Amino acid sequence: MNKDVGFFNFSVNKILTKEQSILDQARIRLLYYGLLLAIVGVMGLVINIYLDHQYVLAFTSSILFLSLVILFKYFTFRPRWAIISHILLVLATMVNLCSVFITIQKVDIITAQILLLIVIFSFYMLGQVSGMFYSLVNLIPVLLFQILEYDNNYFIGVKPMVLGQSTIIIAGCANFILIILMNGHFYTAFIRSIRQLRATAEERGNLNIELEKVIEKSEKSALAKSEFLSIMSHEIRTPLNAVIGMTNLLMMGNPRPDQKDNLDILKFSANNLLALVNDVLDFNKIEAGKVVFENIKFNLPDLIQNVCGGLKLKAEEKELTFKVSVDPVLRDKVLIGDPTRLSQIVFNLISNAIKFTPSGTVWVTVKVLEDRHNIVNVRFSIKDTGIGIEKENLAMIFEPFTQESITTTRQYGGTGLGLAIVKRLLELQHLHMDVITQPGEGSEFAFSMEFTVSTEVVPSPLAPNPLQVPLQVDSMSNLRVLIAEDNMVNVMLMKKLFSKWGISPTIAENGERAIEMVQYGNFDIILMDLQMPVLNGFDAAMEIRKMRDPKKANIPIIALTASALYDIKERVFNSGMNDYVSKPFKPDELKEKMQNLVEILG
Ligand code: ADP
Repeated sequence: MNKDVGFFNFSVNKILTKEQSILDQARIRLLYYGLLLAIVGVMGLVINIYLDHQYVLAFTSSILFLSLVILFKYFTFRPRWAIISHILLVLATMVNLCSVFITIQKVDIITAQILLLIVIFSFYMLGQVSGMFYSLVNLIPVLLFQILEYDNNYFIGVKPMVLGQSTIIIAGCANFILIILMNGHFYTAFIRSIRQLRATAEERGNLNIELEKVIEKSEKSALAKSEFLSIMSHEIRTPLNAVIGMTNLLMMGNPRPDQKDNLDILKFSANNLLALVNDVLDFNKIEAGKVVFENIKFNLPDLIQNVCGGLKLKAEEKELTFKVSVDPVLRDKVLIGDPTRLSQIVFNLISNAIKFTPSGTVWVTVKVLEDRHNIVNVRFSIKDTGIGIEKENLAMIFEPFTQESITTTRQYGGTGLGLAIVKRLLELQHLHMDVITQPGEGSEFAFSMEFTVSTEVVPSPLAPNPLQVPLQVDSMSNLRVLIAEDNMVNVMLMKKLFSKWGISPTIAENGERAIEMVQYGNFDIILMDLQMPVLNGFDAAMEIRKMRDPKKANIPIIALTASALYDIKERVFNSGMNDYVSKPFKPDELKEKMQNLVEILG
């Protein structure tokens, strides 16, 4: 409603606003013009009746005329069309019933017009309920009157008036014009509403098309982003591999103490960069919704032992007490779940505990909470006596790229992605992390996970094939090694490393060459890069496993992988390779794995 309209306003445009719907605008216009017409019509009637010397009727008509003028004025000041419509309908009802029952005592064409007007007006202006009410209140008494009159039963002590022909003409014309005006207005409003609806639908359709385009674009850019990250991470890993490898080589060459310090820094930074690349890649994968949880058999105590193996050394370096306790109930159980992702979660939590504990103890506890038939509920808890976390920062540390404070970053390094990955991995399995922490005293990160218990015996992928007796070689330097690797820097690096062990390896620049060389040569072990031109490492390994000569088909193969750490393992074992090392590998780790597969006689 337009509140700025002055009292002396007579214009309809000033009482119309954009906020009013098309229907309401039509109602306001109708009321405005209708009232004007009614005022003119009733004024004509008053004059005509007066000239006919029907003074009583002229007086009552004058009151009606005055009422209409007052309503019109009020309406142009405050366009409260609903209230005014009710008042008008009450007036019309009174006029109708009075004229039928008292003044005229007859139902004629004027009565019919008035009834029609009331029905249309009440429905259009006030809707179904009021429309029905006013229609019935007017129609029923008129019908009743007709019935009474038909039986000649109607009689009151007032003499009916006879209207002059001119009065009937004026009233008839005014009423017809009103009826036409009303229908015309509402028909226009109806058509305009339909047009507006169509326009809105069209607009919405266009918006939807725009929205789809935007969604498609953002999906494409998300895909491009994750592809870019995958490619970049591979591209970064390859030179990083060379940096770490060279550093390892230099370290093996008895450097001076000052050189060793520099090499330590170099190795530390390169390892940090590698961890960052791995984390970014993994987080990107989780965010892209590409993580699928496996359901494979594994043994939980073995898994914890594997995860803790390397970390124990780190804890010892910091002179921390490192205590691992795994519920003995789990020792003989074969669980079904995703050991890779579970290792990732536990690994992140334990490395944080070691990282943020300057002195004291780190406890890793794995406890069975519930052992139901074929399901176990296991509680994992990683507790430390480290620096702890302020309560208000607890939510923050689970956000990506967020650490508790700048000091943390400066003092301990890290990317702030570890806990974000852990949290998302747990959430994807509908699990929750509990944290109890006290600044200066330590922290405990814990979560519970349910596993199905298998009745079968766990096949350990890393266990040597019982059918395959380890090859026996006199000494490390007698080992005949085939390296399938396309990257020249890596080849150089491996050659240098192997020369330290007195081995001179044979190089194949792709998978196809490697197969040829195995066919025509004799090797004790193969180191197989996975991403190579012509034929990749997986396919090459499968081809070798199919060879007729059982000696060749069973050659130990170690995969060299620069790919994301967490999803390649299964593919490596599925293609028949015996083990894998992630590039950049630690020389000792590679040596140990080679020795495990080939028995070297002292
Ligand atoms: P990062 O270890 O790379 O810094 P995380 O996401 O693993 O990243 O950890 C985020 C932050 O949470 C850490 O920077 C540290 O401030 C805090 N935090 C995590 N674990 C511990 C812990 N065991 N004790 C104290 N603070 C911790």
